Amino acid sequence: MHVWMYIFYKKEPYNVWYTRGLDRIGCFLCPASDLAEFDVVAGNSKRWGQWNEYLEKYMADRGLPKEWKEYGLWRWKDAPKSIREEVQRVSGKEVSELTKQTKAPEKGPLTIKVQEGYSPCVVGYSIEAALSRPIDLEKVRPFCHAITWIVPDKIEGDFIELGGATLYAEGSIISKSGSELDARRTIDHIFQLIMRAEQCVGCGLCAARCRPGALYMKDGKVHIHEDDCIFCRECFGPCPSVNFARGDEFEQ
Ligand code: SF4
Ligand code: SF4
Repeated sequence: MHVWMYIFYKKEPYNVWYTRGLDRIGCFLCPASDLAEFDVVAGNSKRWGQWNEYLEKYMADRGLPKEWKEYGLWRWKDAPKSIREEVQRVSGKEVSELTKQTKAPEKGPLTIKVQEGYSPCVVGYSIEAALSRPIDLEKVRPFCHAITWIVPDKIEGDFIELGGATLYAEGSIISKSGSELDARRTIDHIFQLIMRAEQCVGCGLCAARCRPGALYMKDGKVHIHEDDCIFCRECFGPCPSVNFARGDEFEQ
């Protein structure tokens, strides 16, 4: 109140969004906003239509129900308990049901966009990356030993935990580390694994770098004897499919 009184007293300028009904101004479409705040933004921003169109297409491509947009379920990868309970109360449906993708978007070449900068987190640095389409975790899982010793034997849920990083089937990666460089390097390594599993063009370079012979070529693609992988990380490095995917769309 004192700050506001000072601003009025001195006739200082202030952000016009306060007069439109927001009492906390974050980034446009901040996922920490509540639905009432989005109503204010929707009624006052020329760019809301563009966002709405994006959400509609995202839903249509993935076969998501209308409630996914209606309750703003795009805001979380894993909705908090209070939201799950509230959605259940008003809709009679579980959040897991309303966030389930019933079809895969059209397959296309995989590309990646990595967040510029970082978000602070308890570990230190958290960096996110978005892939251009969902990925098949079953295909990627065996290659994950090159990232960490502990890899689940089978996929439970729609993600894989890899040390400080998480890879989501919907096509995103979150990497957390005590150093920004380390968090970025992990994202890069995970992306290399994904390309190995999904888009190998069969040059054999990574298999040649794998001295224990865990990686091998068959039918023009690289495969792995996962029990032979010793987590030495020698396989990471030049790969034509990765270089292609990083082209113009790779932002880091
Ligand atoms: S380095 Fe060659 S063999 Fe290995 S994943 Fe890339 S394209 Fe495939
Ligand atoms: S080089 Fe071979 S053994 Fe080493 S991490 Fe890569 S796949 Fe595993």
